[in-house]
Amino acid sequence: MTQRTAVSVPLDVREAFAGQLLSPSDDGYEEARRVHNGLIDKRPGLIARCHTVADVADAVILGRDDQLEISVRGGGHNVAGKAVTNGGVMIDLAPMKGVRVDPSTRTVWAQGGVTWRDYNRATALHGLATTGGVVSTTGIAGLTLGGGEGWLMGKHGMSIDNLLSAEVVTATGDVVRASERDNPDLFWAIRGGGGNFGVVTAFEYRAHPVRTVLGGIVAQPLTGWSDVLDSYAGVVEHAPDELTAFIGLVHAPDGTGGKLIATPFCHCGTDEQRATAEVKGLREIGAHGVDLSGRIPYTAMNTMLDAGFPKGTLNYWKSAFLRELSTEAMAVMVEAFQRCPSAMTSIVIARYHGATSRVDPSATAFPHRGPGFSPVILTQWVDPADTDANIAWTQATFEALRPYTDDRVYVNNLSADDAGVVRHAYGQNWARLVELKQKYDPGNLFHLNHNIDPAG
Ligand code: FAD
Repeated sequence: MTQRTAVSVPLDVREAFAGQLLSPSDDGYEEARRVHNGLIDKRPGLIARCHTVADVADAVILGRDDQLEISVRGGGHNVAGKAVTNGGVMIDLAPMKGVRVDPSTRTVWAQGGVTWRDYNRATALHGLATTGGVVSTTGIAGLTLGGGEGWLMGKHGMSIDNLLSAEVVTATGDVVRASERDNPDLFWAIRGGGGNFGVVTAFEYRAHPVRTVLGGIVAQPLTGWSDVLDSYAGVVEHAPDELTAFIGLVHAPDGTGGKLIATPFCHCGTDEQRATAEVKGLREIGAHGVDLSGRIPYTAMNTMLDAGFPKGTLNYWKSAFLRELSTEAMAVMVEAFQRCPSAMTSIVIARYHGATSRVDPSATAFPHRGPGFSPVILTQWVDPADTDANIAWTQATFEALRPYTDDRVYVNNLSADDAGVVRHAYGQNWARLVELKQKYDPGNLFHLNHNIDPAG
């Protein structure tokens, strides 16, 4: 196969490469350089569409030896757009879609290009699931490496709490296994430390019996926000681990621009009577508005919000953890939401509780174990002419919320302009992460991420 590439690739690599090496003039290049966030418009010198671990290792070595910037793409969802480099080598794992489920041990092996939709489709065949993203098009790789919030986090912890091992291509181009037994320090670092320590080509997870859930979404017009907040807070204060419920300000999906306060929730318990009783308070919210909840397959729960996040939409996000979920903080969000310039935007507050918050903050690199609430201002729009207005609104809303938030931020929600707060994503674990970055990637080859600089 002869290809003209802007980045020159040695003949032996080109001949052995199982995937595709795309240069800017190749068919497929334009599609491959695009990620979820339509604001990201970068042009790699080479896109290495990897099919095998050896492809990944070759691409890492090529980038290192030729001093080219390396970016790594899993599901391509990160709004900061660090999965794409300008001019360097983009290591694209999207074609690596293998998923193998072992129902006898309830373990799942999945490659770095798998999305949660792919993953859940395979595990559902065995009535199993693992905590993963609430939108199914998100990649397992970036989401897991940053922590992993999802519908099962109250009962089964974050995605990283279910990770058993990973196959990692390091900055030296070596392929190593990371687990409690093999390279345990690397295993600690990749559970929250993002893409800083190497390219993860495969993940091995623990899965749990979850076939159906009692879940969905209940909502009322925004005018009723104060009562809804009280009801929500009353329910979650006593909620069991099985019930993960978020609260958010959303636009009606009918395009009218109508504003709602909504509670998406998921109860993964199997005792129907108990589950029904435990979500009763949430369904009463729906009784005065809309109740779109019921017993549904977990795969349906996982795709319920997909339509609200189409690929290519322009995105700008801001987030931090709240000191507490107070009426005052919600009043600030409601007031700002009334002036929101885009009918695609929402503000969603994730709740950390149960199994997630019982993990020691130093047990993995992810330190924010809660319990607590983490709002994300998810600003989305379609017309580039509206970009300035949407970014300005998001920043002003985030500023207005500052008196109610603290330093803690979730690394996976950071935007491209959040470099100054990356340290806060790691809190008490920062110093150990810097040490491990010095050990595994002293030259900072993997820097196109929310970076842990080996210089500290
Ligand atoms: P990518 O953009 O491909 O990757 C993000 C970064 O991760 C890369 O720049 C790279 O540094 C690193 N990376 C990716 N793959 C690898 C790899 N194989 N090896 C090494 N490094 C790698 N987060 C949650 O926790 N829960 C949610 O429910 C959730 N919902 C979301 C919904 C939407 C619509 C979006 C856009 C994001 C959501 N997120 C959620 C945030 C999500 O976790 C991050 O955007 C995450 O980075 C996405 O991973 P990805 O593989 O799709 O992204």
